Amino acid sequence: MLKPIKFFLVLLLLINFSFSTMAYTTQFADEAETVRLHWKNGTIPIALSTSFLKQNPNLKPDSDVISVVQRSLKTWEKVANIEFELVIADEQSVSPSGKSGDGISLITIAQTSENLAIFGSDTEEVSARTRIFYNGKGFITEADIILNPYQQFSTDGSIGYFDLEATLTHEIGHLLGLAHSSVFGATMCAHQGKNGIYNLPNFSSRTLGEDDIAGIRALYGAKNTEDSCCGIISGKLLLANGKAAKKFQVWAEETESGRIMAGVLTNAEGNFRIEGLQGGEYSIYAQALSEGKFSISAEELGKVNVTKGKTFILSQKLSGGAKNFDVQYVGFNGQISELAVPINGGKSYLVYVGGKNLDPNNFKIGFNSPFISLTPNSITRHDYGAELSVISFEIKVDSKTPAGEYSFFVQSKNNETGFIVGGLTVESFVNPWNSYFLLGDE
Ligand SMILES: [Zn+2]
Repeated sequence: MLKPIKFFLVLLLLINFSFSTMAYTTQFADEAETVRLHWKNGTIPIALSTSFLKQNPNLKPDSDVISVVQRSLKTWEKVANIEFELVIADEQSVSPSGKSGDGISLITIAQTSENLAIFGSDTEEVSARTRIFYNGKGFITEADIILNPYQQFSTDGSIGYFDLEATLTHEIGHLLGLAHSSVFGATMCAHQGKNGIYNLPNFSSRTLGEDDIAGIRALYGAKNTEDSCCGIISGKLLLANGKAAKKFQVWAEETESGRIMAGVLTNAEGNFRIEGLQGGEYSIYAQALSEGKFSISAEELGKVNVTKGKTFILSQKLSGGAKNFDVQYVGFNGQISELAVPINGGKSYLVYVGGKNLDPNNFKIGFNSPFISLTPNSITRHDYGAELSVISFEIKVDSKTPAGEYSFFVQSKNNETGFIVGGLTVESFVNPWNSYFLLGDE
């Protein structure tokens, strides 16, 4: 039997600017969303403030900052046609907001009044912010990354600290022009947390998900060595009543593995466009973005063969009717949040899902990936109060599962389906809280 669990609703929002939370999404220079922000040249100069190199109360002593900064830049360089030039600079403060800055793209952690001001009253839960300057053509001319001087950062997974590398990797995505993703396990997911959520270090955002990779390739293209990149899937979705299916998540999974390769949102007209895809066969799914209420059942749109340089059009009228439940949160170790659960191949884990109107007698849990399976009869209901319904289930993860983000779905007896897109992330760092440890404790 499970021991009683403590409940924490961990809602950690890391919103950097006024852009709304979207799927792998790029930032736009205009309201009509036609001009995507990006750097004109693939070579981007970055200045690391000396505030990182002096004794700094916000950095755990002996953190190897330079290596961490270099690694987080390299993480993006490896997958797209960009290059950074890193220098050390005496500058300490973010450029004041305005049409243009000082021309220096600074990464800083200094406790100056300008840097403190950028966090306003959000001093507790935000790890960093990025301020971007761009010209009328949508070319980024400067981007400053400010680590929250009210917070502490570490590189060793210390509980209560933000992970420096995960934070920088996420912010560099913004510096390059990406907005937030609605794929749970993506580095560009809006929800970032401190070490200690799920009783684990929060290293997940150090490495890019396929969704992040497709997003950055949509802006800059792949490195020349990637010969199968890139193809495009685009289309228009309509509701059964003929109206535009706006704010739907549309995502592509590698058919063979079930790994999420990219996800986007439809716009107000129901249009979507997934760029930056490598060649291969994809299964495409759509569901209304969960906003904490019942919405339309998810459905598979079809399978698509993506080839380099080609655009595949996939337009459809959705058949999905309403569903009378909602899935919104994922959870682990008794905590429910909007952070993907990091897991390892070859292990079993007890995973939670939270939402509305979930009853283990009426629902099954499923996976598109052949590498992940449900332990029979493991679905259990938990009482988390009237506002939220929570069930847990045990999963078995095959030892050959490729690293990356995977979905699971909750499905009613009437086949109403809701996905947690990317709620499970297969990582190389170890999550020791697998089920065998839990059993050993009891
Ligand atoms: Zn962000």
